[in-house]
Amino acid sequence: MKNHLVPKSGSKVKLQDYDPDFRGDYDKAKAVAETDQLQDKLENLQERLYAENKQSLLIVFQAMDAGGKDGTIGKVFEGINPMGVRVASFKVPSAEELAHDFLWRIHQQVPPKGYIGIFNRSHYEQVLVVRVNALEPKEVWKRHYDQINEFERLLADSGTRVMKFFLHISKDEQKKRFEDRLKDPEKHWKFSMGDLPVRERWNDYMKAYEDAISRCNTDYAPWHIVPANTKWYRDLVVTKAIVQTLEDMNPAYPAPEPDLDKVVIPD
Ligand code: AMP
Ligand code: MG
Repeated sequence: MKNHLVPKSGSKVKLQDYDPDFRGDYDKAKAVAETDQLQDKLENLQERLYAENKQSLLIVFQAMDAGGKDGTIGKVFEGINPMGVRVASFKVPSAEELAHDFLWRIHQQVPPKGYIGIFNRSHYEQVLVVRVNALEPKEVWKRHYDQINEFERLLADSGTRVMKFFLHISKDEQKKRFEDRLKDPEKHWKFSMGDLPVRERWNDYMKAYEDAISRCNTDYAPWHIVPANTKWYRDLVVTKAIVQTLEDMNPAYPAPEPDLDKVVIPD
């Protein structure tokens, strides 16, 4: 059983090999304490990225319904200055969006220099829901894998780092979370009848995810398979991966204007 995180580029991923319950040797207290420390680092790195204004980071979240996309985004970025972050959620495409190529609406939301962009769903829906529900013929969607790789390469070549997270929950865990949503009136809005037919196609979605992760897992835009049945472990894993990537990007404050030490602010 593989635990996490980044499969070898080019390898064929089997999700059965990844345990959604994995938590390493962590308990909740240890994971929360470590996540807190990482969030302090994340705050500082984000400020440097914004100040430097030369590179950007795009973070894609994909998961089944109730997989924790909203929760992870809320938790991981809770201390971050909202000025430097943009979140985009991709829903069923509008008529205008459908009148363009599938990357048109995506490209517009890619973070500009200095920003972190967070995608709640993404261009990958085009090889997930579109494939499973045959919304396009196979001849069309099967070409999207290469198109996505080329698109992500363009972003990487243009100073945008791309990270992709698959929040991996089990079918049993989804059932529990759906039941919680049905019990709690404040969570009713999160449940949709349309979630049930999607759950019925669970195995088809897992196959589609396996192909997306296997075929679009590049060195320049890696997939991370996150064990996500345990929320505090999921948050730790995601926060740690983002901090590592930002440390590698190593954004620097710009050089100050000369002679700042001689400036006297007039009364
Ligand atoms: P939610 O994230 O729960 O608000 O739901 C958004 C819905 O939009 C999901 O059912 C997605 O599968 C659907 N969706 C997102 N992108 C696409 C797409 N490109 N084509 C069809 N459906 C999509
Ligand atoms: Mg939903």
